[in-house]
Amino acid sequence: MVEQTVATKIAFIGLGRMGLPMAVNLVSAGYQVTGYDRSKEACAAFAAKGGTAADSARAAANGAEIVITMLPTSGIVASCLVGEENALADVAPGALVIDMSSSVPADTLKLAEELKARGLSLVDAPVSGGVGKAIDGTLAIMVGGEAGDAARAEPVLKAMGDRIFLAGKLGAGHVIKVLNNYVSAAGALAAVEALIVGREFGLDEDVITDILNASTGRNNTTENKVKKFILSGAFNSGFDLALMSKDIGIAAGLAGDLGLDMKLLSRTSQEWNAATEELPAGADHTEIYRYVDGGSRRG
Ligand code: NAD
Repeated sequence: MVEQTVATKIAFIGLGRMGLPMAVNLVSAGYQVTGYDRSKEACAAFAAKGGTAADSARAAANGAEIVITMLPTSGIVASCLVGEENALADVAPGALVIDMSSSVPADTLKLAEELKARGLSLVDAPVSGGVGKAIDGTLAIMVGGEAGDAARAEPVLKAMGDRIFLAGKLGAGHVIKVLNNYVSAAGALAAVEALIVGREFGLDEDVITDILNASTGRNNTTENKVKKFILSGAFNSGFDLALMSKDIGIAAGLAGDLGLDMKLLSRTSQEWNAATEELPAGADHTEIYRYVDGGSRRG
């Protein structure tokens, strides 16, 4: 006789470009997932892929053993869980909250205190890899939290990622996530500057990219983004410029809070912030090329 096991009840809040495929992978892994997004289209897309959609964050989380957030910012995570939307109101003590958004580490620590008072645990588990890896279930996931809570999260995270790292104490996942995006964003700026300088000398940008990729200057932008999203003119990687700018701003704020003067980090943050202000809302992060190109002409 096959032993009957009851699937863990998971609430998944934030069914955007990343959250939707991540939640779908949890459904495919056999979890009982109720999703919520303030966008009705996102909820409908989740239901169409076999998930259960709720009408509110609170309804989605009602009775959940694990509540996952994949939302744009820390402010929205807090408002959703313990603020206006009060998603955790009907969640029983003992449940685990996993914030997979790229959030502000100090806000994560504050949220954990509020949750602790309600008998709930928190781990931070942000991701890297973009929409393609979210769909394939091959994200890199960096976990911060108490060992027992991280162990409890691990099987769930394995349905969404294939490299799960225990980064350290609570907030550590959010710290390494924004540091990673700082390194990625600084590399992207360097890559697009090199393309533009080479182009103005008369080089072909495809050739520049091929040579960089065979040489020591290659990075994730040169290898995976320049031809596909920049030179093609598609600018549709699925990761907003504003979200990248937010992450570098969090990294710069973290350095400041630690009393560190990191000059390239500050400068990188300023550039991405200025690009967000200059380019239209919803611009893709690969449009940093357009911003640098325009700026290089203005002088
Ligand atoms: P997105 O904008 O595509 O999705 C965010 C979703 O949250 C949207 O569907 C929106 O309707 C929903 N939402 C906003 N406020 C809400 C609320 N109060 N209640 C319920 N739903 C609400 O963003 P994304 O690209 O999926 O990014 C989500 C998080 O993951 C961000 O923190 C981002 O920095 C991070 N991230 C994104 C990528 C990427 O490649 N897109 C990669 C790694 C990490």
